Amino acid sequence: MGLIVQKFGGSSVRDRDRIFNVARIVANTHKAGNDVVVVVSAQGDTTDDLIAKAAEITHDPSSREMDQLLASGEQISIALLSMALNSIGCHAVSLTGWQAGFQTDRKYSKARIRRVDTERIQSELERNRVVVVAGFQGLNKLDDITTLGRGGSDTSAVAIAAALKADRCQIYTDVEGVYTADPRKVPSARKLDEITFDEMLELATLGAQVLNNRSVELAKKYNVELEVLSSLNPVPGTVVKEVTNDMEGMLIKGVAKDADVSVITVMDVPNVPGSSFKMFSLLAQRNINVDIILQSTGRNGNKDVTFTCAQGDAELACRVLKEQGRYDNLVADNSCAKVSIVGAGMQSHSGVASSMFEALSNNHINIHMISTSEIKISVIIEEKDADLAVRAIHDMLVHNV
Ligand code: ADP
Ligand code: ASP
Ligand code: MG
Repeated sequence: MGLIVQKFGGSSVRDRDRIFNVARIVANTHKAGNDVVVVVSAQGDTTDDLIAKAAEITHDPSSREMDQLLASGEQISIALLSMALNSIGCHAVSLTGWQAGFQTDRKYSKARIRRVDTERIQSELERNRVVVVAGFQGLNKLDDITTLGRGGSDTSAVAIAAALKADRCQIYTDVEGVYTADPRKVPSARKLDEITFDEMLELATLGAQVLNNRSVELAKKYNVELEVLSSLNPVPGTVVKEVTNDMEGMLIKGVAKDADVSVITVMDVPNVPGSSFKMFSLLAQRNINVDIILQSTGRNGNKDVTFTCAQGDAELACRVLKEQGRYDNLVADNSCAKVSIVGAGMQSHSGVASSMFEALSNNHINIHMISTSEIKISVIIEEKDADLAVRAIHDMLVHNV
């Protein structure tokens, strides 16, 4: 008995049968004596379809109108799920993000949640209704609709769980939990019983889309324990929490791939103090997030600087640097991907990096860039090699250990 937040992703509500399947899960949770707040995403590929519709009209839509458009997907899901719940005798009411009290900053398309005013949700719960909330959306100070970025419904669910101090936050999806690699690409991937917030945050940021990274950040901040589980198979999923029991156990928790990588090389950068500051402050002023940075040793008073960013930012990054006149000898390469391993255990073990590189070497995969932190190692390689690399690294460091 308690207050439970249950989030269902797009594939879990993609058609009539799936909506009734979700309705049954929710109704059973409610029947067991719990208050239930449900967060849903747009059905199936609705968000992608809406983006395609916008592209039929213009290639440069304003982000305000994009948010207006994209938020409609979740609005369909909440109404249909509430109808399904009511039709099976479970009283439910649907609320859009703004009806549910989601206030965000002004940034259309990747807004951040400022607060959730839970009065309306609470008054509906007091009337013993299941509350079905549209994920991914809120309202900014201008009373305009905003969206939270792709995969943002996970963040909506965690924000509600934190604001309501829910007893549980369950993220239902189309796989049975968090695996050691994408189970659709790596058949030998294992489901994890538990994973720490820190490890999950790295995995999500490095490409494991099963949870949105901002949702994990928020869960860690407010200590909201998450349970990732399947909406189709009623088996235990993966718990994401601050401290796990197997701290001395698995060395590597997961292997992730991110194909959204652009590698930009700027040649003939003056090899003098302050040159990196000048270059990267230009990018920071335009909110371009730079990931891995590599610098060559200087020769003839010059050096080369290579960095990675999201492909969507690459054109702007090149333009900003070229406008300066000082950095016009540059190339952007979109044919790369980042493959990473994550695990708190590697802090106290040597040889993890060399095993990762051995797996790549055995498969004749060339490494362009390397970056490490205490709990992750990432390599930039050719995108065409990335799936093979994930499997080879997984075999070497997870499956055959
Ligand atoms: P939802 O629509 O429920 O939000 P997503 O498509 O966003 O679901 O995320 C679930 C998908 O994440 C899975 O179908 C799986 O292919 C992918 N995935 C990638 N990496 C992992 C991983 N390490 N563990 C589980 N799933 C993963
Ligand atoms: N519908 C949105 C998307 O496709 C939000 C979500 O699914 O979480 O990105
Ligand atoms: Mg998702």
